[in-house]
Amino acid sequence: MTEHYDVLVVGAGPAGLAAAQAAASHGARVGLLDAQARHGGQVWRHDVLHGTPQPARKAFNLLARTRGHVEWLPRHQVIAADHRTLLVETPRVSVQLSFGSMVLATGARELLLPFPGWTLPGVTGAGGIQALAKQGWPVHGKRVVVAGSGPLLLAAAATLRRHGAHVLGIYEQAPTAAVAAFAMQLWRWPVRAAQAAVLRARLAGIPYRCGSVVRMAHGRDALCGVDVDDPRGPLRIPCDLLAIGYGLVPNVELATMLGCALDHTRIHPCVQVDDLLRTSTANVYAAGETCGIAGLAAARIEGSMAGHAAAGSTAAATALLPSRHRARRFAGLLALHFALDARARALAGADTVICRCEDVTLAALDGFTDARAARLATRCGMGACQGRICGTALAELGRFPRSGIRPPLFPARLSTLAATDVPNLPTDDSRGTYA
Ligand SMILES: Cc1cc2nc3c(=O)[nH]c(=O)nc-3n(C[C@H](O)[C@H](O)[C@H](O)COP(=O)(O)OP(=O)(O)OC[C@H]3O[C@@H](n4cnc5c(N)ncnc54)[C@H](O)[C@@H]3O)c2cc1C
Repeated sequence: MTEHYDVLVVGAGPAGLAAAQAAASHGARVGLLDAQARHGGQVWRHDVLHGTPQPARKAFNLLARTRGHVEWLPRHQVIAADHRTLLVETPRVSVQLSFGSMVLATGARELLLPFPGWTLPGVTGAGGIQALAKQGWPVHGKRVVVAGSGPLLLAAAATLRRHGAHVLGIYEQAPTAAVAAFAMQLWRWPVRAAQAAVLRARLAGIPYRCGSVVRMAHGRDALCGVDVDDPRGPLRIPCDLLAIGYGLVPNVELATMLGCALDHTRIHPCVQVDDLLRTSTANVYAAGETCGIAGLAAARIEGSMAGHAAAGSTAAATALLPSRHRARRFAGLLALHFALDARARALAGADTVICRCEDVTLAALDGFTDARAARLATRCGMGACQGRICGTALAELGRFPRSGIRPPLFPARLSTLAATDVPNLPTDDSRGTYA
């Protein structure tokens, strides 16, 4: 049986929660789904020690006041879609959901750049270890180096310290002048400035070094130290964990599958939307990080706008446009001041593993000029992450753009794939071309 919603919202982070609330305020029947067991997305992730952040609780409680207009569908992962139906897997069953209109609020993931030693146990994404710590992974007493680029490093370091980790230092690749220029602009976004001040206070005593890049991770069976290229000279830092991420990349896979046009003006595309957050596919809207990395404030405003518009209230959506423009200007500031240094793109050597799922080295990819040919010859990008990590890194390294997004979007059960009318699954003649 197919369940139908007037408005179906994919993703229950700040953008999705706001979209569901806005759509329900016009009386629409709303489905709000997320692959995660709890609402909140990345920034408001539930913490086993410290609970659900207050803004997430507040946003969720507002949904309860819609008198049943919003149905919350946790642990619902979209694995395939066409323009009217989503195929969704839950831990037990697969279901099809249809919609009058849909809001894509699928967020972002971290950009991980390969370097020698990055596959050692103990090396994780900065946001990745933040999520693990919140979910109960023990970091208490561990010596952690935090590195990469962007404000997420501060948030990750603060979470790690809160969970008892010994944060040895934060190594930001952007030069001091760029970070200082960024900080000087923050007064224009008082909420951001306040967040930064709170984080800095929580991180008191932890060195914050700019213009520094982790060149190598050492260890036999697990991480035992890192080499850092620092403006004051090379450093070798013994540590138990390295939390490293080079910024965020929009999750556009579902939008691509739905035929939504992407904006390719940056290395990592985002979903193209108009002033009402309509994508190029009829009745499909997008909001938050999937439309380009701009942070929490933009996600909340865009979620509200998309929810209003998806429920047919263009006036309510348009009223929020000036706030959106303002919040989006912050994205430009981030991109400008935390632009990646050429050193970060030159860390991988010929024998550095690029595709962790299929053990493919950089040298094995020499000579290939497109992702499909490389995939067919080397299996690069054919593993569990389906190129989300290696394909994104290769685009950043200037090899070739990621391509070939096909269903299922995530590894799925055979019983789900065997369902008769799965939307968008490949026909027999193309079935052999992917893993
Ligand atoms: C790892 C990580 C950690 C971050 N930590 C912070 C932080 O501490 N502070 C901060 O200010 N910002 C943080 N950010 C930035 C963050 O992206 C934004 O601030 C904010 O969360 C964006 O909100 P959003 O609603 O657009 O997306 P998100 O919050 O990312 O929400 C997207 C949701 O969509 C769901 N989803 C995606 N695809 C599917 C699918 N196919 N099926 C079902 N569900 C799906 C995801 O499970 C997720 O819950 C982090 C980002 C990342 C990637």
